[in-house]
Amino acid sequence: MPYPEWLQAPKKVDLSKISTRGEKDPNGKKISREKAEAKHAENIAALEELQFKLSAESKHKILIVFQAMDTAGKDGAIRKVFGPLNPQGVRVHSFKKPTEKELSHDYLWRVHQHTPETGHIQIFNRSHYEDVLVVRVHNLVPEEQWKKRYEHIRNFEKLLADEGTMIMKFMLHISPEEQKERLEKRLQDPERVWKFRKGDLDERKLWAKYQEAYEVAIEETHKDHAPWYIIPADKKWYRNYVLSTIMREHLERLDLKWPLAEEGLDEVVVEDL
Ligand code: ATP
Repeated sequence: MPYPEWLQAPKKVDLSKISTRGEKDPNGKKISREKAEAKHAENIAALEELQFKLSAESKHKILIVFQAMDTAGKDGAIRKVFGPLNPQGVRVHSFKKPTEKELSHDYLWRVHQHTPETGHIQIFNRSHYEDVLVVRVHNLVPEEQWKKRYEHIRNFEKLLADEGTMIMKFMLHISPEEQKERLEKRLQDPERVWKFRKGDLDERKLWAKYQEAYEVAIEETHKDHAPWYIIPADKKWYRNYVLSTIMREHLERLDLKWPLAEEGLDEVVVEDL
């Protein structure tokens, strides 16, 4: 299977039927942790060069959306896949609960300002999808309002794509059992306990509602120019391997070129001082 299609969301999404463990390569063969880690390291080395070219060529712009249930590992994924890249060309924006000012605008207002400029990779840690996820689950706005948002989002992403942005959307898919383990670990770990919010337990109780909201959001907005990938995320090593593989394939498909050198450089001599 060609890599960009690998792990792309199906037309009809039933998350309960999609593995949270994965452990397969793009050809459907089981991959060991050792092999996946070696491949991930290779991907990262390739991505470093691809990003250098992306930045030098300054022609394309990349938008990566991360969405996930709590503890699914958005932060870790961003660190492991994008951490090794040149920070000058990668930006991360985390979308939190909207401020009063943000709420006084339309919900895409705060998002548009952070879309990427040419030569850059922009990562959204949470995104405009919260406006059809948490907002839908908690009815933060009336149903007739959030229902229209799928169409807005489709149009918004089409606009970005038409104006030259390559978009990839990653849903990190974990099981409720894995989330339980991670929450328990957080409670016990002095270096992680600061991340624990009692409110996370209330959100956990809404698991089924969130999964349904994800399924609808993915189905409604999965497009060739803005595909959703459902990343099995129970195993961190597998998640990292999958993400770096998909990223690498996408960037390689851009056929990035080094900019041409200035004319007449063959006659240039750098003189001793
Ligand atoms: P981690 O997953 O690593 O714990 P986080 O992404 O949950 O970090 P927090 O600051 O704990 O970071 O959570 C951000 C919160 O903001 C989430 O509960 C999310 O649902 C909420 N949020 C984001 N966008 C919106 C929105 N448009 N409307 C309402 N709530 C939102």
